[in-house]
Amino acid sequence: MPLVSAKEMLTKAKAGHYAVGQFNINNLEWTKAILLTAQELNSPVILGVSEGAGKYMCGYKTIVGMVNGMLEELNITVPVALHLDHGSYEGAKKCIEAGFSSIMFDGSHYPIEENIEKTKELVAICEEKGMSIEAEVGSIGGEEDGVVGMGECADPNECKMIADLGVTMLAAGIGNIHGKYPENWAGLSFETLAAVQEKTGMMPLVLHGGTGIPADMIKKAIDLGVSKINVNTECQLAFADATRKYIEAGKDLQGKGFDPRKLLAPGFEAIKATVKEKMELFGSVNKA
Ligand SMILES: [Zn+2]
Repeated sequence: MPLVSAKEMLTKAKAGHYAVGQFNINNLEWTKAILLTAQELNSPVILGVSEGAGKYMCGYKTIVGMVNGMLEELNITVPVALHLDHGSYEGAKKCIEAGFSSIMFDGSHYPIEENIEKTKELVAICEEKGMSIEAEVGSIGGEEDGVVGMGECADPNECKMIADLGVTMLAAGIGNIHGKYPENWAGLSFETLAAVQEKTGMMPLVLHGGTGIPADMIKKAIDLGVSKINVNTECQLAFADATRKYIEAGKDLQGKGFDPRKLLAPGFEAIKATVKEKMELFGSVNKA
């Protein structure tokens, strides 16, 4: 099945009270692990690509080629969206051209007027191309583009203004943070989430920084209207941990244990296990 926009899968998720996971990719192993797990669990999935990861993987066209090739060669039949994560205005345009099926335009650092103007323009282009588009209101804490912030809460009225521009999904800061959560984290603001939900109606809401949010908070967030949850750091930690264990056990020194296909296998399996756990928690299993 070719790449699809995230619109239909998120509309279904919102109506069915579950969430679709966005898992960020970094290389071939990452992409293959996520796609195979989604297929095995019969779950829709969103592959996230940050601008940094885009550069690392030799540009958006390389990524589109790799993902499209895998969809065909691995016989992936579940809905898959290829999505730019925290895109700049220029990055969004490049991804539209390269063949992504979804973009996030992160205009949260612009004054609200400028955020609106740029979002409007990109909404029109995405509509014409049948792509989905995510917007962000209120900056999400943690490290985002090298800037570290605490989890802010979005203004529900600003959320409505951006939602009304015709975006497909909306990321609203509700105290969530990218990366690992600090010991003294105050938790998600369900008050803000409920207020945003009330103002934006059927708009699917997006929860960034899904790594380390306790399962009961995730479930409550889904109940309150979150239909897309971004997971990035957790797969990185699982991959690094499994790879370290393999090397610490000296397995790379035994026989052909240095073969990258063997060396990277435990990390690959660890990503698969992490993605499976998240899809089960989010409730997207058998929702393809
Ligand atoms: Zn994010």
